[in-house]
Amino acid sequence: MVLAGRNPASEVYVRNKIKTVTDAGCRAELFRLDDTAKVTEALALVHALNADEAIDGILVQSPLPAGMGADAEQRVFDAVEPLKDVDGFHPHNVGLLVQKRPALVACTPLGCIELLEREGIPMQGKQAVVIGRSDIVGKPMALLLLHRDATVTVCHSRTANLPELARGADILVAAIGRAGFVTREYVKPGATVIDVGINTLTAKAEVERMFPEGSRKRVQFSEKGSVLVGDVHPEVADVAGALTPVPGGVGPITVAMVLRNTVTAAELRAGGKAAV
Ligand code: NAP
Repeated sequence: MVLAGRNPASEVYVRNKIKTVTDAGCRAELFRLDDTAKVTEALALVHALNADEAIDGILVQSPLPAGMGADAEQRVFDAVEPLKDVDGFHPHNVGLLVQKRPALVACTPLGCIELLEREGIPMQGKQAVVIGRSDIVGKPMALLLLHRDATVTVCHSRTANLPELARGADILVAAIGRAGFVTREYVKPGATVIDVGINTLTAKAEVERMFPEGSRKRVQFSEKGSVLVGDVHPEVADVAGALTPVPGGVGPITVAMVLRNTVTAAELRAGGKAAV
């Protein structure tokens, strides 16, 4: 794992990943770069890790320090050896995913598919709507659903009639980054709803919009001054057939997929095959 700078959220993410990886019996090493490090230093570190035979997977924690320049993330992510790209961000792996060929796939959408499969939720022939078209969640999510024979609609900030489109979904994936955006009117009764969003609410009015008086989240808010919420409004639980919680849903399965990808990466380098 490569961590540049001192972003507090990144420190937490990296610490959690190291713990999970170590608990699972893998070896995790953290390579730190200063806040003032240049992009050339990050690239040199990635090249050294690429060449190190003892390392199967490389994770570069985003965001990189602003001082590295606007294109730093793309340059550094592109420098990761595709067979060690356990985040699945490298254009080589994205291309393989598009063609439905063995590849390392982005961990969050991979985790969402794992949740659907383990819960026995059928995808073949179903209508799936993905709200969000980012390279790390929305787009790979749509491709993975397509490869499982769902009929997929990808929505974004310019989509017209979004609630109506979402209401057509048997499987609705919210990857927007807006607290409680998906309300009851976006959801067909009985639909499966996957909430990818992770948002920190610090405004009382927002918390009150989402949670009734006396609820656990309101208590949490009054104690801590903030609460973690998804992109899906809690009222959706009344209509959905299944709904992932936030926290404790897509987040932990994403970390588990980092582990799976690391094993896949090791197998691929040893000449094996991955399943997409
Ligand atoms: P992102 O890069 O900011 O993309 C957000 C997407 O949502 C964009 O495609 C954007 O549309 C769309 N969007 C924004 N406002 C919208 C609106 N009003 N109506 C319809 N679409 C709208 O975010 P991301 O990286 O994909 O992450 C999405 C969320 O998932 C965030 O809360 C993030 O923290 C969370 N996340 C969680 C995990 C996990 O492990 N659980 C992992 C990754 C991300 P445009 O393209 O038109 O701008």
